[in-house]
Amino acid sequence: MCFPKCPLIFGFYYNLESVKEIKLFNLGAYFINRYRELFDTLFKKFLSVRISHTKITLLFTLLHGIGLTVLYIYVVLIAFQGKITVGEVAMYFSIVGSLQATFWNLTLKIGNLTGSTIEFHTLSSFFELAPTVKTGESAQAFSHINRTIEFRNVSFRYPGRENTVFSDISFSVNAGETLAIVGENGAGKTTLIKLLCRFYDPTAGQIFIDDVPLHQYHLESLRQKIAPVFQDFSHFFLTAGENIGIGNVEQVNNESAVIQAAKQGQADTVVSQLSDGYETLLGRHFDGGSDLSGGEWQRIAISRAFMRDAQILILDEPTAALDAESEYALFQRFKTLTQGVTTLLISHRFSTVRMADRILVIDEGKILEEGTHEQLMNKGGRYATLYRMQSEKYR
Ligand code: ADP
Repeated sequence: MCFPKCPLIFGFYYNLESVKEIKLFNLGAYFINRYRELFDTLFKKFLSVRISHTKITLLFTLLHGIGLTVLYIYVVLIAFQGKITVGEVAMYFSIVGSLQATFWNLTLKIGNLTGSTIEFHTLSSFFELAPTVKTGESAQAFSHINRTIEFRNVSFRYPGRENTVFSDISFSVNAGETLAIVGENGAGKTTLIKLLCRFYDPTAGQIFIDDVPLHQYHLESLRQKIAPVFQDFSHFFLTAGENIGIGNVEQVNNESAVIQAAKQGQADTVVSQLSDGYETLLGRHFDGGSDLSGGEWQRIAISRAFMRDAQILILDEPTAALDAESEYALFQRFKTLTQGVTTLLISHRFSTVRMADRILVIDEGKILEEGTHEQLMNKGGRYATLYRMQSEKYR
């Protein structure tokens, strides 16, 4: 079936971000053709189902018609033979008429029921999808990290994929430490974060917090203590206040908490320029909404993370749209504001990475190097080469 392609086709209608590229790459006709092709394919499938349905309905209608005709003829014949009176003929005709209506209704209902059963089957198989990540039995609530987060002999392969992202990797992060993860695109940096957030479980090995396997913590309590800022953070078409407040949904209406988070993430200056302040609807999806620039949305997303009373801060290239200087300043700020919070940082900027307490260099599913900035520079390996290459570029 080609349903999975539908979002690709329909997506561009609703996605304002695509407009620039659709216009400049002149993609209008291309997408319209793709839409037509998809429509034709779906229409053919729809038609074939309808034709077989119509054939069955025709058969039933024919049988129904023959049955009725036989009945009418029979009533007329016995009337001619004088076995029934004219009044009885009228009565039989009326009985046959209502029988016909009942039978016809029944046929329609059975048709509808068959259609609904097919749809309901799809819906119920969707509802029956069980989460693959579960909280273990006798799980405990997660509240804080005392000692370490530890990846012990972890291997991972995405469901349905043949290649493993990691094989047998082990490392740990101390409580309150900032660990930067460095590696080429596709090396598996974000996947490490996804495993820590338990979007997936490792295919082998385990992740521990204070020697307790991750699945022995209640999933919700664990996630509640993680504050993430991703590069591809969400733009919610809600008010500015809600966009920040949903970082801790229970506090979404807590005005002072929202204002404080906005200050910490520097979204307060963005909000102060909006016509209705925190009440301003963001995005152009709805009438009256105000759109923000990439950097402004980023500040909103960063402030959202500050709504949390987090134990683990995840910064997965959250500042990719900022220049190196602003990124550096922002991380300094993060460091001061998140004292004592265990931080995992992914960035391609070595000026930022060097601020971390420790750095992990990953390559082809393995840990290539691990240490402080100074240790790795003295080692003169991959990190040192990449660091020097980047510093020369910015000299
Ligand atoms: P990085 O963050 O270092 O750029 P990722 O962790 O995003 O790398 O990706 C590591 C590898 O896993 C890549 O080969 C990528 O194609 C693959 N990958 C990432 N997400 C998925 C997914 N949801 N399903 C299948 N493969 C994925």
